[in-house]
Amino acid sequence: MSSLPVLNTAVTQAAPSTAASSTSTPSSLGEDARPHVFGLRAPGLVAALAAVGVACSEAEARRVLGRLVSEGRADLHGMKKPVRATVRDAVHTLLRRDRLAVVDRAVDDSDGFEKLLLRLPDGAVVEAVKIPLEKPGCFTVCLSSQVGCAMGCVFCATGRLGLTRHLRAWEIVAQVIAVRDTLLPGERVTGAVFMGQGEPLHNYDAVVDAAQVLADPCGGRIDARNISISTVGLVPQVRRFAAEGHKFRLVVSLHSAVETRRRSLLPVAKTWSLPELADALRALHQSTRDRVTVAFCLMSGINTGDDEVSALRALLPDVPLRINLIDVNDARAVEDGGLRPPEDVERARFLDALQVLGQPVVRRYSGGKNKHAACGMLAARALGAATPGEAPAGAAGPAAVTVTT
Ligand code: SF4
Repeated sequence: MSSLPVLNTAVTQAAPSTAASSTSTPSSLGEDARPHVFGLRAPGLVAALAAVGVACSEAEARRVLGRLVSEGRADLHGMKKPVRATVRDAVHTLLRRDRLAVVDRAVDDSDGFEKLLLRLPDGAVVEAVKIPLEKPGCFTVCLSSQVGCAMGCVFCATGRLGLTRHLRAWEIVAQVIAVRDTLLPGERVTGAVFMGQGEPLHNYDAVVDAAQVLADPCGGRIDARNISISTVGLVPQVRRFAAEGHKFRLVVSLHSAVETRRRSLLPVAKTWSLPELADALRALHQSTRDRVTVAFCLMSGINTGDDEVSALRALLPDVPLRINLIDVNDARAVEDGGLRPPEDVERARFLDALQVLGQPVVRRYSGGKNKHAACGMLAARALGAATPGEAPAGAAGPAAVTVTT
């Protein structure tokens, strides 16, 4: 597996290997080192307790996690079918169960998107976004996978901040728990998208671990097919994902099928060429036997021309695709390098042009654009890192709502 390029000078101290794991976060955090229940599935809980000399059956572990993660209860007291006192006491004393503190919230009244700013144990902050789905009472959660990001995509202010650290699996799951805590009776979280701060596949092990907890019947109880992991195209990790045969959906941000243009938008494209990425996407299709989802963040006058359509057709003529389109959400002024979304006419023309490919095209909605709700605004306010109105994270916003097909 090749190593990641150094994509942003701000992250050279943290430039992790492509095998970054949930244990790769800085040991200098100086915090409680006990395992956290939000990062465990039943076999992991059995092993964690065995490591401290406490015997626990898998059935007991499932009941413990069902109580603490699925139901979100604070402790194991008052269970209908209690676990043994030795297991209960060990879980209470030897494992962490704390939640992330919600330090700010912002609701966009126009679309119901709600952004939560969450404080991690080391004081860093990340955002999670609660996104209402068409089905009443159902929500998906847009998750952050890192504090900052190393990828440096030109249209994303998080990329300009650089990477501070990877999140651990439990810190990702805890974002869903925090959102779930805001739900009313009868409401539930039915999906998760890794489209917040960070490049999920740069933090591969923790992200996959978290997704597995979220999909677990004793964890988040979210259908694995409703968990999407977004990537700018880290080829070794895409190949690994394909080889491991996960049910989660991988969404690969192409943004351009023209090599020179893609390199100008995504520094990562200087490390892996489009033909290399295309080969990895073929492997993904062979693994999943499903369409490969590719995403384009639409930027006026940049990637909405006919040359993109012909380049995409030439790049992946043999792979069934699902093409996601989302408008860029770059709050910088044009004179400061800000990129604009296409006007309606330009977007409609591109949508028409894509029809020649015969592949489904889905326009995704970038929500929460109003004041204080644009993607990354809460984190920016907390960090003091963005100019007023600039959205530092996830330039395209949490793309999770289909508005046009
Ligand atoms: S768009 Fe995503 S991968 Fe690119 S810099 Fe921003 S957070 Fe990182």
